[in-house]
Amino acid sequence: MVVLGGGVGGVATANRLRRRLASRHRVVLINREPDFSFAASYLWVMAGSRTARQVTRPLRHLERRGIDVVIGAVDAIDPVRRVVSVDGKAIEADHLVVALGADYATDAVEGLSEYGETFATLAGAEGLSRSVRSLATGRVLIVTAAPLYRCPAAPYESALLIDAALQRTGVRAHVEVAVHSAEPAPMGVAGANVSAAVTSMLADRSIDYRPSHQITRVEPGRAEFADGEVEPFDLLVYMPGIRPPHVVAQSPLATPSGWVDVDRATLATSFPNVHAIGDNTQIPLSIGKPLPRAGVFAHAQGLVVADNIASAIDGRSASARFDGHGGCFIETGFAKAGYGSGNFFAEPSPQVDIRPPSRRTHLGKVAFELTVMRRWL
Ligand SMILES: Cc1cc2nc3c(=O)[nH]c(=O)nc-3n(C[C@H](O)[C@H](O)[C@H](O)COP(=O)(O)OP(=O)(O)OC[C@H]3O[C@@H](n4cnc5c(N)ncnc54)[C@H](O)[C@@H]3O)c2cc1C
Repeated sequence: MVVLGGGVGGVATANRLRRRLASRHRVVLINREPDFSFAASYLWVMAGSRTARQVTRPLRHLERRGIDVVIGAVDAIDPVRRVVSVDGKAIEADHLVVALGADYATDAVEGLSEYGETFATLAGAEGLSRSVRSLATGRVLIVTAAPLYRCPAAPYESALLIDAALQRTGVRAHVEVAVHSAEPAPMGVAGANVSAAVTSMLADRSIDYRPSHQITRVEPGRAEFADGEVEPFDLLVYMPGIRPPHVVAQSPLATPSGWVDVDRATLATSFPNVHAIGDNTQIPLSIGKPLPRAGVFAHAQGLVVADNIASAIDGRSASARFDGHGGCFIETGFAKAGYGSGNFFAEPSPQVDIRPPSRRTHLGKVAFELTVMRRWL
């Protein structure tokens, strides 16, 4: 069993396979970096409520559970023969699970990474924590650099958490906070009710919101938009767009879009005994948008795939199904979170409700973090 990618999806898959399979079956996990870090906690790192160390674990910890860990870059995937090349060395698999996530398309907007800061990487979140703490006056401009990005809630949570941090340091009255999004509404895939609820959370905190405003170019202190408008900033915070991982896009697994097409219930690709889960898949929904890239989905899909592989090996029917249920936490600061959850596979459109911010829901996100960081690693 070979799992490509040691993110949320890959780590859940490898653990579940190890638990379900007899010890004569090898489970191998391959990842480029030696450490796992939990992206869903990066905003807490930005807000100062987690350190980078608290949200990071060595992937080698998996070896204590009987999972073989290979640290290296996957540079080619042959799904027909189920052979992958890792730093030029071939590794064969009876079953292959592709969970390589998504690459950031930061270069799509000129000047964005030079003059902006992002919470989408661990190093970026640490840097932003310092930048937010040092603000005493001025304007924070938060942008989504493209309509498609990981975790639809994250940019909006970042605005609420930055607002909370500025309130805590007593400077909020002197710092303007604005969000300009490339997409027409917050969390649009979850429906109009969720979008309206998030928009009103921003308004309640005096965060100016401008939808359908595509950033095109950045210079020191000024951001240009597709409609020709220019917005000033003292601190530019961005959520980068995404593109398929290069090695996936170059492989026969990819559709012309570069993403992997899968059976949405079983995550099977068109190649026997090859599955793909998480951010590197593109699962279209009835409304024409894809299933959001979220760790909760990558995690749930990984468990389905592992259960079905184990059942097939044991000669039982592979009956586990991913049913499109799941949700996104919306951290609002002050140890509270809202939760947009429901059935994303519902017809004719996803049926998603939003729970208002509460301490209990915030603790739900803490529990998700604990599951991944303690149970799996
Ligand atoms: C700021 C932020 C906040 C978020 N908050 C939430 C949240 O609250 N809830 C939620 O559900 N989701 C959240 N997400 C989204 C979530 O993190 C992703 O959807 C999730 O990590 C996807 O899991 P994955 O296993 O598909 O990919 P990833 O977790 O990205 O893992 C992919 C792995 O593959 C490795 N890799 C890539 N290419 C190669 C290669 N060529 N060779 C070897 N290894 C390679 C990568 O290094 C990585 O370790 C958030 C994301 C961000 C950025």
